[in-house]
Amino acid sequence: MLQIYNTLSRQKEYFRPLHEGHVGMYVCGPTVYGDAHLGHARPAITFDLLFRYLTFLGYKVRYVRNITDVGHLEHDADEGEDKIAKKARLEQLEPMEVVQYYTNRYHHDMEQLNVLPPSIEPHASGHIIEQIAFVQKILDKGYAYVSNGSVYMDVEKYAKDYHYGKLSGRNLQDIVTETRELDGQDEKKHSYDFALWKKAAPEHIMHWPSPWSEGFPGWHMECSTMGCKYLGEEFDIHGGGMDLMFPHHEAEIAQSCAALGHDSVHYWMHNNMITIAGKKMGKSYNNFITLEQFFKGGHELLTKPFSPMTIRFFILMAHYRSTVDFSSEALEAAEKGLARMQEAYSRLMRLQPAGTSTVDTKGLRERCIEAMDDDLNSPIVISHLFESARAINTVYDGKGTVSSADLDELRAVWKTFAEDILGLRLSGDSSAADTHVSAYKGAVDMLLEMRLQAKRNKDFATSDTIRDRLVSLGFNIKDKKDGFEWTL
Ligand code: ZN
Repeated sequence: MLQIYNTLSRQKEYFRPLHEGHVGMYVCGPTVYGDAHLGHARPAITFDLLFRYLTFLGYKVRYVRNITDVGHLEHDADEGEDKIAKKARLEQLEPMEVVQYYTNRYHHDMEQLNVLPPSIEPHASGHIIEQIAFVQKILDKGYAYVSNGSVYMDVEKYAKDYHYGKLSGRNLQDIVTETRELDGQDEKKHSYDFALWKKAAPEHIMHWPSPWSEGFPGWHMECSTMGCKYLGEEFDIHGGGMDLMFPHHEAEIAQSCAALGHDSVHYWMHNNMITIAGKKMGKSYNNFITLEQFFKGGHELLTKPFSPMTIRFFILMAHYRSTVDFSSEALEAAEKGLARMQEAYSRLMRLQPAGTSTVDTKGLRERCIEAMDDDLNSPIVISHLFESARAINTVYDGKGTVSSADLDELRAVWKTFAEDILGLRLSGDSSAADTHVSAYKGAVDMLLEMRLQAKRNKDFATSDTIRDRLVSLGFNIKDKKDGFEWTL
């Protein structure tokens, strides 16, 4: 039975859905003002693994992953320019052009990583009316106040009735010391109060009418609102990166408790962070590598490009709650590991059954399920598959045999765990590449045979043209007594 680590209780818990057979899960999606990078890949792949596994277990999953296209300011929630609006100003674009452009690119990157699309992908800007209603509920309950056209969460008042900081483990005093002194803070009663609605400054280009001012919702508001709208006031799982635990998710809990009297979420799940060559990822470190740079190469920290499947495999080789350090060397190792799996898979598909079996398939499926049930332990699943790859290679090399029943079971386990659950493309890429390679080899052989024929017919003009053209394309051609040899 599936156990997942609940960040809120700080322990593994048996997963029991609210409604039998159904799971509602919400994951914080990207703020679409720039290209997706590794920091986007990890939560996307982690919760894709969960989505795929829950589906495998037979649940009907409604997976909501939002697009943040308004309200995410440069300094987290409350201060600075809106990230989308800033990009739009710099590029002289309509903000929704920025949103559409980067959303399309995000989708393309996710498709490359074989991350399945969510069931619903709501935009914050498409849910302004719902967010205003949510803010009003919090005001009505007395946990927020209006100040100069903006609405702020009254954290002190809230903390008297509820536990503010229960997710991140911070107390109000820690938060006071951490909260920076920022402009606009004079509007707030306390530095730790956060915006539910912000009055737009005159130069701010994204704003909507509200009972309090022409403005825009606070960043945390969209997730509370859209989670409730699509999954109900209580739902099963909320996920995201650990960096979102505070203030974003802590604020979401406060908003839901203030408005509804209870938290919406039963299981809070967080993936750990990625470092690059030991350093935290960030623009200032110059280690901010976009996914496209991984796929196509061209970043100074990368020795070469790495395929999307290598990135996916590398992320899955670590448990989602441990940190992952990216380096070219580590990725090259992952690339080799993935190639071994792809080779074993392709051999598995070509094995012929025998009357007897030296391969023990008993328990392989159960061991994989056991690992996934243990808080999605993907590295253990991968190690079981590697073990079975050794058995496949033994049979392939003629040092063992596999019965028809065992062969069927092996193929089914690999299909289910490697392809369907881990989401690795093991055959598609390589077999397409194989087809290309054999087609071009056949074409070169055909040309050289035509050249041979021309020579026999003493048509040296034709035979020379064929040779010269192939040489200019980079082929080395050696004439032999009985034919030819060529290399590229
Ligand atoms: Zn969120």
